[in-house]
Order: sequence, then structure tokens, then C-alpha cells
Amino acid sequence: MASVIYPTTNFTATEQLCITHGEGIYVYDDTGKQYIEGLAGLWCTSLGYSNTEVVEAITEQLKRLPFQHTFGGKTHAPVMELAEKLKAMVPVEDAYFFFGNSGSDANDSHYKMLRYYFNAIGKPHKRKIITRERGYHGVTVAAGSLTSLPANLAHFDAPLEALSILRTDAPHYYTGRQGNETEAQFVERILQNLEDQILAEDPDTIAAMIIEPITGASGVIVPPEGYYEGLQALLRKHDILIWADEVICGFGRTGADFGCTTMGIKPDLMTFAKQLSSAYFPISASVIPGWMYKAMVDQTNEVGVFGHGYTYSGHPAACAAALKTLEIYERDKIFDHAAEVGTYLQEQLRATFTDHPLVGEVRGKGLIAALELVSNKTTGATIAGGKGGAAAVKACQTEGVILRAVAGNALAFCPPLIITKPEVDEMLKRTKAGVDAAYEALKS
Ligand code: PLP
Repeated sequence: MASVIYPTTNFTATEQLCITHGEGIYVYDDTGKQYIEGLAGLWCTSLGYSNTEVVEAITEQLKRLPFQHTFGGKTHAPVMELAEKLKAMVPVEDAYFFFGNSGSDANDSHYKMLRYYFNAIGKPHKRKIITRERGYHGVTVAAGSLTSLPANLAHFDAPLEALSILRTDAPHYYTGRQGNETEAQFVERILQNLEDQILAEDPDTIAAMIIEPITGASGVIVPPEGYYEGLQALLRKHDILIWADEVICGFGRTGADFGCTTMGIKPDLMTFAKQLSSAYFPISASVIPGWMYKAMVDQTNEVGVFGHGYTYSGHPAACAAALKTLEIYERDKIFDHAAEVGTYLQEQLRATFTDHPLVGEVRGKGLIAALELVSNKTTGATIAGGKGGAAAVKACQTEGVILRAVAGNALAFCPPLIITKPEVDEMLKRTKAGVDAAYEALKS
């Protein structure tokens, strides 16, 4: 084994898949075996594995200007162009963009910018952030504290107490319902819980609530009808900002430009990464509205400098990758394609797996989906220790499709946005063989 500390890995795991190259939606291992990348790498390679236009845009930029920082008085064309392009796309009022390198650092940047802003307007007490159970927002100190998955918190002394994070219910009806509660009753109950929490904490101490429009890495959760309408009304009533983490949902994944569009959310702040550059070069963005930016400008005049930035903020090659990716999304109508093939994926997944004995729920929207694997289809009882998810991932890999088990037993799909209907058929054929094999293995 190489001396690599692998991220999010059981260090004693002995089996490792070494991927050597890719083409379209396929990747190949070092024995030459082909796999469908059913999770687009880590929810990110939207244009697949062989987009030469993006590679050329990066290469050209690297030849012209491989690096230029954007600290104090320096800039370059790609970063300015990218901000203008994104400004025309995002549903944030008069948007301004802080660029970073990952979804985690984008969320940390937002965390700090919120503090900076509320200090600037003389409300330093407005500092708490609400997050949801089963939310995933990354692993840096603030983002890792906003994340709710046990493995990301345990043994890291997270959440860091000084960050003042409040946790509220996950909007997952299938696993969160009580008794015979209907979806509408479930929504009413969890929103009432949230309002009780807000009042108990004092709304004037709460800055924002972070949400993934559709929760990705902790289970692919599509909130029920009425949830976001009620949530937004509640947050507006108590003057709490809505911070949409679009790191997975952004740029076509849910069948529209942003997850917020699909789910009817009007965000104040947004974060994105991953599909912003189809993952060909690391880049993230923290998006704030103009009114927040203006208050920060005033504060900066007082302290001399906005003391937050990364060496690679707005890296020219990353901006070139993002600009070319956005151009291709627009030119090739990739979001429309994702909407059409996404509808097909959702239909075919339900047709193939709704009656499967190992599957309790089939869920998703657009080109993101999950199968909840259960030990008892009638009661929805879970499979201890995430063994269902692990068995299915392994069996699917043998069949030639790479998927990921999230939140234990949710088998997640998030293929490149360029996937075609025949490729969806092939992915589901391989997955069905894998899930059947996992079902047999779990029985014995
Ligand atoms: N936010 C969401 C919704 C994510 O899914 C992820 C990663 O999967 C992150 C933030 C963190 O992004 P990164 O891994 O690039 O730091």
C-alpha cells in the first residue's frame, strides 16, 4: 500500500480500485475492466471523462498565465469574466463571488463572511447557524461542524462549540415519519419543531440556515411537498437568511440550473463547487447579495483589509475550466438534456426497483437518486451497520457500475449529466444484477 492517507476511508480496507483512465461516462481500472461511473466521480464530473474542450481551455490558460493571485490590487481576465457570467445565472440579488477551491472551503468562507457582515452592521449577536440532521457540507472546521454525519463529527471534537451551530430535523419522510403520520403532518411537525427551537434560542441570535435543496451525500433526500414553502416563510418571519449549499445540486443536476429552482427556493446566499468546472480543475464559489457586499466594503474601510483569502482564490486555470464548462452547458443545452434523461432515470429506477425485496424506497429528482436498502420491505427496517449499502456497492462494482452507499444503506446514483437513455438502461441493467446479488449474499 502506498503511503497515502486516503480521505473518508477505513484505513484497514485492503481492496482498492485503481482507476487509470476514462471516456464519456466510463472509467477503466488497471486491469482494463470498464465501469459506468454512476456517481460522476464524487457527484462532480458532469461532462464525463473525456471532454477535450475543457482540457484545452485549461491548457491554453496554463500556457498563457499559469498563476496569478487575486489578493490586494491584483486580478486577471478569467476571474472577472467568470464572476460576470455567474452573476447573470444565479438567483441571488446583485451577486458577488468569493472563489475558493472546494465545497468545504466555500462553506467556511460563507461562515466567516456572515460573521463579518453582522459585525459590520452592528449585530455581532446574530451569529448562530441552523443546519439539518443528515446534512453534508464538507469537512473543514466550520463546514465539518455544519455537517451532521456521525463519522464527520466523532473524534474531531466537532462541532466546534464556538461556532454556535443548531441542528434541526432532516426532511426525510421515509425515515423520519412517526406512526401513521401523513407527509403533510410530518412537514407540519418538523417545521413546528424548528420554530420552537428558533424561539427558544431567540431569533435575533440566528444568522442563517444552511440547506442542500436536495440532500446529497447523506442519503439523497428530496423534501416533501410544502416543506420549502413553509420553511422559507418561517425563516423570513424570523429574519434568518437562507443559505443554499448547491455543491451537488448546482448546474443541472436536478434537471434545472440550480436545485433552488427545482425546489422553489429563493436563497440569500449560495455555495457551489464540483460541477462548476465539471471537476476538471478545483474551484468553488461563495455567493453573497450586493447588500451584504456593500456592508462588508464599509467594514473593510474601517479595518483596512478583508482578511480572508486563499492563495488559489480565482486560480486562472480553474476559472478557465469553469468558463468553458459553463459555455458547454449553455451551447449544448446540457441542463435540458439532464432534465429529459433525469425524468427517464427516475421512471426506470422506479419501474426496476419499486418491487425489489431489498428496496424500501426509490427516491430522487433529475439525475440524482437513491435506493434505500432495507431488511424488511413492509416495515422499512434498516440493515445494521450499513451492510446493505456495502454489499450492493461491491456487487455493482463486480457488474461494472460504480455507485456509492451513503448514510449507510442508501445506494446513490449521480451519473455524468451527459449520460444518454441507452446508457441509463445499461447502468440499471448492471445495477439490477448487483442488487440481486447483494440480496442473495445478505440472505445467506
Ligand atoms: N457541500 C455539499 C452539499 C457536498 O456534497 C460536499 C461534498 O460532497 C461539500 C459541501 C464539500 O465539498 P468538498 O468535498 O469539495 O470540500
